[in-house]
Amino acid sequence: MAKKAKAKRVAGKSRIANTKSRKHVYFFGAGRADGNRTMKDLLGGKGSGLAEMTNAGLPVPPGFTISTEVCNIYYKEKGKIPSSISRDITENVKKLEKTAGATLGSTENPLLVSVRSGAKFSMPGMMDTILNLGLNDDAVEGLKRRTDNGRFAFDSYRRFIQMFGNVVLEIPKDSFEHEFDAVKKARGARLDTDLDEAALREVVERYKKVVKSKAGRDFPQDPHRQLEMARDAVFRSWMNARAIEYRRIYDIPDHIGTAVNVQMMVFGNTGDRSGTGVGFTRNPGTGAKEFYGEFLINAQGEDVVAGIRTPQPIRELEQVMPKAYKQLREITTRLEKHYKDVQDFEFTIQDEKLFMLQTRSGKRTGYAAVVIATDLVSEKLITPKEAVLLVDPESLSQLLAPGFDPAEWKKIPTATTGLPASPGAASGQVVFTADHAVEWTQQGKKVVLVRRETVPDDIHGMFVAQGILTATGGMTSHAAVVGRQMGKPSVVGAGGLEIDEAGKRFRVAGQSVKEGDYISFDGLSGEVKIAQVASKPSEILQVVNGGLDASKSSLYRRFKQLLSWADRFRRLGIRANADQPDQAELAHAFGAEGIGLCRTEHMFFGEGRIPIVQRMILATTEADRRKALAELLPLQRQDFYGVFKGMHGKPVTIRTIDPPLHEFLPKREELMVDIARLEALGKTGKQLDEKRTLLARVEQLHEFNPMLGHRGVRLGITYPEITEMQTRAIIEAACQAHKEGLKVVPEIMIPLVGILKEFSDQKAIVDRVAADVMKEQKIKIKYLVGTMIEIPRGCTIADQIAREAEFFSFGTNDLTQLTFGFSRDDVGKFLKIYQDKKILERDPFASIDVEGVGDLVRVGVERGRATRPDLKLGICGEHGGDAASVHFFHNVGLAADAAGAYRIPVARLAAAQAALSVKVGD
Ligand code: PEP
Ligand code: MG
Repeated sequence: MAKKAKAKRVAGKSRIANTKSRKHVYFFGAGRADGNRTMKDLLGGKGSGLAEMTNAGLPVPPGFTISTEVCNIYYKEKGKIPSSISRDITENVKKLEKTAGATLGSTENPLLVSVRSGAKFSMPGMMDTILNLGLNDDAVEGLKRRTDNGRFAFDSYRRFIQMFGNVVLEIPKDSFEHEFDAVKKARGARLDTDLDEAALREVVERYKKVVKSKAGRDFPQDPHRQLEMARDAVFRSWMNARAIEYRRIYDIPDHIGTAVNVQMMVFGNTGDRSGTGVGFTRNPGTGAKEFYGEFLINAQGEDVVAGIRTPQPIRELEQVMPKAYKQLREITTRLEKHYKDVQDFEFTIQDEKLFMLQTRSGKRTGYAAVVIATDLVSEKLITPKEAVLLVDPESLSQLLAPGFDPAEWKKIPTATTGLPASPGAASGQVVFTADHAVEWTQQGKKVVLVRRETVPDDIHGMFVAQGILTATGGMTSHAAVVGRQMGKPSVVGAGGLEIDEAGKRFRVAGQSVKEGDYISFDGLSGEVKIAQVASKPSEILQVVNGGLDASKSSLYRRFKQLLSWADRFRRLGIRANADQPDQAELAHAFGAEGIGLCRTEHMFFGEGRIPIVQRMILATTEADRRKALAELLPLQRQDFYGVFKGMHGKPVTIRTIDPPLHEFLPKREELMVDIARLEALGKTGKQLDEKRTLLARVEQLHEFNPMLGHRGVRLGITYPEITEMQTRAIIEAACQAHKEGLKVVPEIMIPLVGILKEFSDQKAIVDRVAADVMKEQKIKIKYLVGTMIEIPRGCTIADQIAREAEFFSFGTNDLTQLTFGFSRDDVGKFLKIYQDKKILERDPFASIDVEGVGDLVRVGVERGRATRPDLKLGICGEHGGDAASVHFFHNVGLAADAAGAYRIPVARLAAAQAALSVKVGD
């Protein structure tokens, strides 16, 4: 599963502005706007785009944006809007009426508006929208007279009552749909469009009755009151469950709020000379330079996005309305140049006249992000620096996700083909609801979420599924948009599927597939197969592993190009966390400049080693322990030599043993069961004796808090012979490498130091053994001795430790554990509750807690540097692969960041972005 993608964070808390003096409502219309593209924080993405397009002279229906600050005020004032802001809104309504030449509620020329949400970060479908606001029993007659189209007027009114009823008055959609279907049935209509004006008048009457009975009030007839209620409902939708879940997944802070855009309606549903659509200036799935999108004739916006009708590809618009198509192409090309990025746009054509309703940076897959960034540089639209800033670092990890083995894939017949909405290989067991997707995943199963169409409430299931498959909807339907954004393989509009969600089964190509059966699909080709298919490494990984020639992969070349641009700008060195030669090779191929953390104890788990390690632990005398260590020595030497080779002579930081020793021994309970079984069988002898000895030692080693116990430097101090053996293995391996011409500088790192004398004790051993080895080997090599800073006390006495340590590496995993007092192993039990209750916004083990743990890092850096200005400083906790944390490490002035091999590309790009957007020392 793709790691969760993260939206950029907004630093600091939003300030609730002084409501009297601040401007809260921003007008746009008739070629001039109060706002512009730089004001996303205040106007949201949609509002700032509308302002910018208006200023650029594009055909944008006039309107105004109520700022995100008002959303915060709304919550602070417990659902009330201060009268000064209400007055501003009224003023802007008047201005809009003047500009539009129409009046809210007029029976001559009624003004109709849309009321739409729009936060700084797009949150597709998560919040609410209301269209056709302003209609009432009189205005609808005015609309009919003015357009000479009674069917259209009443269709607009029934849509409005339904949307307003659902969103504002919280009446379930079904209640309306039930009435609509009843009228359709009574009149023998097959399609919605078969209903004439008289039928729609009846629908309106029935809808008003639904409102009266379900909401206990009449449908509000005053358009100004309608507007207030709709505005407040949009603000409320900021806090609906799915919007909260979406923000949690994408790490969008709650306090930024949403803006509300009130805009004159234009109509795509006045007849066959009208339509509405959405599109992208380039293909958001593959990045290809092609005009891309969909439209529906005689429809309103929500029909396209909701995936209810399958729309036509946008190029067909050229035949239907060539003039509008040409103008749309010209405008969107201009917008792409202006914003220097792919644009995602919405438009409506009313009686062949084109209107632009939205433009914003288009969401794209990781694959497309790399293709687009490198293409825009080739086209001289942007510079390499801008290209580096254009790609979300997290999206690079998508490019390393596996695909299917083509040979295996070909063997299985294709059951159906849908629209390839988001690339990637998905294989898993079928589930039909988002809740089941979550439940099954928690049981360790891999699932594919199959739906007729997805809705925003499915977000939690989409997040955990291997992939999303829908039967209806187009490339811009909800499943497609969200799938791409999550980097989740998605195939939509697979019309061959007959889904029976209630019966938990679907039919396709004559086969019946039930919940729990395996299916697989390819998000790049759209093919769906009824089988479990093995996947294979991504194209990039194949090149990196030598299985594919780089000249045959344009994607690899682009990936490499982008990262080499990133390297030009970053200051932070990027190293790997790796303990095996093959991991070192992979990390090197991904551009690691060394190893930042080699956990030697991982090597103890290698084949055939555990018994030796156990002998070392079980030894009751130093002599016995040394015997076991002597057996481990050649194995460790070989390990280190392999890692040095894998890193091609680049620096390697090797940490001495860290975890509590019981981790290498069997569990106490398991031993007790074994012993009881042997005893019950009446067995005596060696096997039973060994188990009993092991149990006694396990009990002796038992600790109540092993993570705070006998581990790290404490092991080296109590068993100096372990440090001796490890130092000998490292230095002997390095001497061997040197003799072969590989001039490696090993960096020996002591973990969990919190007292200077702990470090001094270990350093003396390292220096003594290193001197002995070099003498034996008749060669002098350079090596460093440093420490991990992962105990809060290590940070506060960093000035003392730096007297002797030649480098520090911040172990932010333990530092987070010890700063919060949260056990790394048990935090999962309550973290989700903390996040749900907003006690913590993020998991501090995934993304660094800047104000707490980060501050200790800052103290460690300052105090360490005060003693030793040239102290080498790095970080090697899991945070090293998290883009937001990398920004912090850059800012705090570290020199190196270490991440797992697969996260190295992410870290390289994030480090460059940090260097380009923030001055060091800020
Ligand atoms: C750390 O604590 O951050 C670290 C890198 O060490 P480990 O995860 O092995 O404890
Ligand atoms: Mg640690």
